[in-house]
Amino acid sequence: MTDFDRTRAMFRLPEGVIYLDGNSLGPLPVAAETRMRTAMRDEWGAMLITGWNRAGWMTQPRTLGDRIGRLIGAEPGHVVLGDTLSVKVYQALAAALEMRPERRVILSDSGNFPSDLYMAEGLIRMLGRGHELRVVAPGDVADAITEEVAVTLITEVDYRTGRLHDMADLTARAHAAGALAVWDLAHSAGALPVDVARCGVDFAVGCTYKYLNGGPGAPAFVYVAPRHADRAAPALSGWLGHAAPFAFEQGYRPGAGIERMRVGTPPVLAMAALESSLDVWEGVDMNALRAHSIELSEAFIARVEAACPMLELASPRDPAARGSQVSFRFAEGYAAIQALIARGVIGDFRAPDIMRFGFAPLYISPEDVGEAAARLASVMTERLWDDPAYRIRAAVT
Ligand SMILES: *Cc1c(COP(=O)(O)O)cnc(C)c1O
Repeated sequence: MTDFDRTRAMFRLPEGVIYLDGNSLGPLPVAAETRMRTAMRDEWGAMLITGWNRAGWMTQPRTLGDRIGRLIGAEPGHVVLGDTLSVKVYQALAAALEMRPERRVILSDSGNFPSDLYMAEGLIRMLGRGHELRVVAPGDVADAITEEVAVTLITEVDYRTGRLHDMADLTARAHAAGALAVWDLAHSAGALPVDVARCGVDFAVGCTYKYLNGGPGAPAFVYVAPRHADRAAPALSGWLGHAAPFAFEQGYRPGAGIERMRVGTPPVLAMAALESSLDVWEGVDMNALRAHSIELSEAFIARVEAACPMLELASPRDPAARGSQVSFRFAEGYAAIQALIARGVIGDFRAPDIMRFGFAPLYISPEDVGEAAARLASVMTERLWDDPAYRIRAAVT
C-alpha cells in the first residue's frame, strides 16, 4: 500500500463524488466518528466536569497545537488552538502592532481574504490612534514594505487564485524595514511545506477545517515566534490566557509564552475530531505531498485547457508560484460549478467569476483529476450550465 492509498483510505469520501473543495472544508476522517463517540460517551458523558483534568481537555489546545506546529515548521510549544481564524488574526495583529508603537501602517494585499482585512479595520477603529490599512496589489507587496509599515498582514496562498507569496523573502523584507510579519496560513497549512521558524515569521495564524480536515467549525491556531512569546501583549485577555486562571485574581496577568494567546473555554468536542484528522498527518512527508499536489494541478490545467478554450486560467501557470488549488475565470462560473456539482464533481465559486478547484493531496488521485476534467469538459462544451436552475444562488457559494 502506498502512502497515498493509506491516507486516502482514512477518509470517508462519498461514493461517486470527486471532492475538489477540501480547500474550503476537508472531508470526514473515518476515525473521527469513533473518536467523537468516545469523547461524548466516555468523556463528557461519564466524566462530566472531571474530564477537564482526567481527559486532558485543558491541555488539548497545546498538545494539538504542537502537532500542527510540525506541519508548519514551528518550534515545539509555540502554537495554540482556539477560537476562529478571524479572532486569531485580530489577536496576532494587535500584538504585533503593539510592538511597533511608533508606526501606523498595516500592509496587506487585495488578494487577502476579506475577513482578515475587516478584522484589521475593526482593530484600527478600536485603537483609535490613526492607523492605516494599506492594501496593494499582490505583486506590489514587496515594494510597498517601507519604513512606515508596522506590520505586514499577508495570506500566503490567495484564496481566489491560489497565488503563492514568497514567505521567506517578504518576511526578510519586513524585518529589513523594521516591520513585523504576520502570516495567514489558511490555504497553506496541510497544502504545502511551510517553515515559519526558518522564515523568521513573527506571528502566524490558520484554520484547521480546510486542508487539515478538522471539520466544520474546527478551531483556529496561532503561532508566536519564541523571541516574542513572553512579550506579546494579548488584546483579548481572557481568563484562560491568564498566568493563573484558577487563582481567579481580579486583574489580568498574561500567561507564559503561547498560553497568553488562549482566550476562553476550548471547543473540546471539535478538538476530539481534530485529533483524528491530525492522526492522518502522522508520517506524511510534506515534500512528497507537495510533489503529488503539483502533479495533480498540472494535469488538471493541461486537460482543462485542452478541452475548454472558453475558460481562462486565473492561477499562476508556474506550479512553484501556486498553492494546492487551480482556478479558472468564466462569466457564468456560478452556473457552471452548479452544473458540475450536479454531475458529482464538487468545486466552488468565488465572486465575481472564479471557478475554484482544490487538490488536497492526501486523498485526491490522478484518476480523480482525469475524471473531473472530463466532466468539466462536457459541462462546458455542451453548455450544460445554461439552465436557469443553476443560476439560483444559495447562501453559501
Ligand atoms: C478561510 C479563511 C478565513 C476564515 O476565517 P474564520 O474565522 O475561520 O471563518 C479567514 N482568513 C483566510 C485567509 C481564510 O482563507
